[in-house]
Amino acid sequence: MKPFTYQRPFTVQEALHSIRNTPGSIFLAGGTNLVDMMKLEVINPSVLIDINQLPLNKIEPLPNGGIQIGSLVRNSDLGFHPLIRKNYPVLSQAVLSGASPQLRNMATVGGNLMQKTRCSYYRDEISPCSKRNPGSGCSALKGYHAEHAILGTSSSCIATHPSDMCVALSALEAIIHIESEKEKRKIAASEFHLLPGNSPEKETVLEPYEIIVMIELPPLPPNTTSCYIKVSHRALYEFALSSAAVVLEWEGEKIKQGRIALGGVAAKPWRCFQAERLLENSLPDEKLFRSCAETALQGAEPQKENQYKVELTKQVICKALSTAFKRSV
Ligand SMILES: Cc1cc2nc3c(=O)[nH]c(=O)nc-3n(C[C@H](O)[C@H](O)[C@H](O)COP(=O)(O)OP(=O)(O)OC[C@H]3O[C@@H](n4cnc5c(N)ncnc54)[C@H](O)[C@@H]3O)c2cc1C
Ligand code: SF4
Repeated sequence: MKPFTYQRPFTVQEALHSIRNTPGSIFLAGGTNLVDMMKLEVINPSVLIDINQLPLNKIEPLPNGGIQIGSLVRNSDLGFHPLIRKNYPVLSQAVLSGASPQLRNMATVGGNLMQKTRCSYYRDEISPCSKRNPGSGCSALKGYHAEHAILGTSSSCIATHPSDMCVALSALEAIIHIESEKEKRKIAASEFHLLPGNSPEKETVLEPYEIIVMIELPPLPPNTTSCYIKVSHRALYEFALSSAAVVLEWEGEKIKQGRIALGGVAAKPWRCFQAERLLENSLPDEKLFRSCAETALQGAEPQKENQYKVELTKQVICKALSTAFKRSV
């Protein structure tokens, strides 16, 4: 690990002032991702700005019936919070399916959004990797890519975003609140992460001088069911090979509208907008669920070793939809 200095601001404004005026600085939250990257010398900040003292660790109901989640809320506190379990069970399931209890006790919501890909070439410091070293190429394309992306890839990068939480946030149409010294802005969770295109090093819309302060969950109609399904090599302490978060709003026996987001298959939580249209005002059955799955995977471009993800993801979508359906009856 390269040497660094350490600062500990107590207000958001102080933190924003420091990040803008200190070259080589980066925010430190739970440290479960950043410190790993520093040990591997993949990320080498000269200054750590520890944001753990900022007043951003609360989960609070909003007047419109939604909920706001501070960016420093720990993943365990989020997953086990009674309001989240009751009103947004898909988020609770997604968060608690990730990592291990010890990691979730440290990991924060903001850090989860910003965590780096698990592509092994990104982490090894020596292989060509355009995400780590722009323009150097992608070792995964001709190397090991069994766990890589099948949707929204480019010839520059086929890495996935590893988060479970972000998949649920996308299906819940969460809003991410961001601040800089000069302005506050909001962005839809499904637009926060970027596809690789020609610049895989740019992973999110967040600028280096900005901070995530809060996530807002809009209220859900009472007749809503949801589900998160995750397939991984192990049941615990393992990232998704494929996952799906599904949110269905019901009108009698019909699905009024539905939302589907996928994890483990793209550089961002992948919203299936076309498949969602099939759900509108439809009676649920296995045929409908399979059509949604087929539609969602239409644009898939797997590599040699991750072709299995196409059918796996279809099955994951069908399972998530049928589980959310069973929860409605
Ligand atoms: C072994 C292991 C298994 C894991 N398994 C899973 C899994 O199955 N599913 C899953 O979803 N995750 C998993 N994780 C990832 C874990 O959830 C992340 O490491 C964690 O969420 C990162 O949060 P943190 O607070 O520790 O972030 P840090 O490591 O402190 O920071 C990560 C990045 O976020 C930035 N950052 C943090 N907070 C903010 C903010 N408020 N505003 C702007 N930037 C910010 C930091 O500058 C840094 O770049 C796993 C991690 C490990 C080590
Ligand atoms: S998939 Fe992306 S992160 Fe992995 S080696 Fe290729 S460019 Fe790097």
